Amino acid sequence: MTMIADNLHAVAQRIAHACQQCDRPVDAVRLLAVSKTFGPDAVQAAFDVGQRAFGENYIQEAVEKITALQALPIEWHCIGPIQSNKTRLVAEHFQWVHTVDRLKIAQRLSEQRPAHLPPLQVCIQVNVDGGPTKSGVAPQEAAALAAAVAALPRLQLRGIMCIPEPAPDFVAARAVFMSAKAVFDALLAQGLPLDTLSMGMSGDLDAAIAGGSTMVRVGSAIFGARHYPASA
Ligand SMILES: *Cc1c(COP(=O)(O)O)cnc(C)c1O
Repeated sequence: MTMIADNLHAVAQRIAHACQQCDRPVDAVRLLAVSKTFGPDAVQAAFDVGQRAFGENYIQEAVEKITALQALPIEWHCIGPIQSNKTRLVAEHFQWVHTVDRLKIAQRLSEQRPAHLPPLQVCIQVNVDGGPTKSGVAPQEAAALAAAVAALPRLQLRGIMCIPEPAPDFVAARAVFMSAKAVFDALLAQGLPLDTLSMGMSGDLDAAIAGGSTMVRVGSAIFGARHYPASA
């Protein structure tokens, strides 16, 4: 588990270096540790060296982990696709959701968010590069969805997230991330009080930070290669 501590330190240095390269303050970028497929002991090891925000893709697996670690003040982020029949679990167990791309899912999350919890913090997933993934709203539809989500009572819209296809080089990757930043800036200009641009993973966090990311989602660079597929 000291490997996890060492890796977290190295990722923090990578983030700091990327920020310096583009003249952004080091604290402008938050690190979300993506713990999917890794057990509670791995999360605990990262927690023990100060990591507080963790991302999970598979709802069922996440709920087991969240329950096992409920004594710890962890901020859990859902970063996987959400089917209608899983919205209640998400609304009840997570603090954040990055993957809202349909109003119907947002409405269910708002209705099902327990009254004793603060509003669910939400990012809209945008398909910035028109990639083959079916997830994410088209950039030109982001404004309408954002306005509708922002009006829901039990959700707080924080920004957008994207998962672009791997690009051939740094400059190409940064260009795609800058197009996500343009969508984000357009929503700000619309008057929405947003602060989160969730983009960048182990392989492309440097380009994402150069493109304006405020939250990178990093899994394998912290926890190592993922070896088993988790069930959804
Ligand atoms: C798995 C995953 C990550 C982390 O990917 P790594 O390449 O392991 O850093 C980030 N975001 C999403 C949406 C993921 O599914």
